[in-house]
Amino acid sequence: MDKTVNYSELFSQLLDNEGNFNNSMLTFLYYMFPRDLFIRALSLLESNDMMIYILEEAINNDNSVIAEAQRTATLADESNSAKNTITSTNTTEDDKQGAVPPLNATIPIVTDSLGENNPGEIEYMNGLLKDIYNDDDYQLLYRLIVKSDNEPPIYVDLKDWTCSCSEYCELFSHEIFSNEGEKKDVDSAIQDLLVTEIDDIEEFKDDRIGQLDAHSFSKQQYFKIDKIMCSHLLAYSILLRSSMDILKYFVQKKSNVLLFRITNIDEWLKLHINIIV
Ligand SMILES: [Zn+2]
Repeated sequence: MDKTVNYSELFSQLLDNEGNFNNSMLTFLYYMFPRDLFIRALSLLESNDMMIYILEEAINNDNSVIAEAQRTATLADESNSAKNTITSTNTTEDDKQGAVPPLNATIPIVTDSLGENNPGEIEYMNGLLKDIYNDDDYQLLYRLIVKSDNEPPIYVDLKDWTCSCSEYCELFSHEIFSNEGEKKDVDSAIQDLLVTEIDDIEEFKDDRIGQLDAHSFSKQQYFKIDKIMCSHLLAYSILLRSSMDILKYFVQKKSNVLLFRITNIDEWLKLHINIIV
C-alpha cells in the first residue's frame, strides 16, 4: 500500500452526490487491498452483523454536540419514547427497559422512519452519530462488535488497531515472530515494526485510518495497516473514519449497522459480562 495515500479521503468518495455507490471507486479500492479485504469489508458492512454499543451516560457532558439535543429528546412525547428506544423484541427481557440486547438477537435499529414523528429523536441521533464520528481521541465509551451465528463475537478496537479475529492474530504473530531476534527489547521492537511516527508537523497527514493517539499535537502515530489489516478493522474504519455520509448511509439509510444505546453503567457492565461469557 502506498504510504502517501489518504485512505479516509478515498473511502469518503465511496458514495456519489446522490448517495449511491461510486463504481469507479469500488473498483479502485478492490484492487488496492490484498486478500479480497475490501470486498469482505463491504460485505460485512451490508451484513447486519456489525454493531456499535455506546454508553450514553458517558456522552452527557457539556462538550458533547448532542448534549442539547439529548435534553430536547428527553422532553419529547413520552408515548413515543418507548418505540424509539432500541430494545430486544424477541427475548424474555422485553419488559426491562434498556436491557442489553443479546448478541444473537434480531433487533430494530435506528432509521430515518423511526424518528419521523419525533424531531427531537432525529436531532438526537444525528448528534450521536456526529459525536461517534468525531471521537478521534476516544472520549466516548463504545464497543465495536461483529456477531456471528456459529462463532464467538469478534471485538474490534480502532483505538489500538486490534481485532479478536483469527486473521488479525495470524498476521500479528507473523510480524512478531518473523522479526524475532532482531531486537532485544520486545516493546520497542513491536513499536518499530508496527507503528510509523511523524514528528515533523509539516508532514502531518489528514488520514484518519490507522491513526493512533490523534490527540497529540507534537507527533502523529499511524499503525502500519499494510502489515496488519482484517476485514473487521477495514469495515469499521470505512464506517467511522471516512465521512459522516458513509456513517449515516450504513446506520440510518440502510440500517445495516446496528447502533445500541446503553443507558446506564450497570447495563454496560452486563454487556461486558455477556461478551465474556
Ligand atoms: Zn478482524
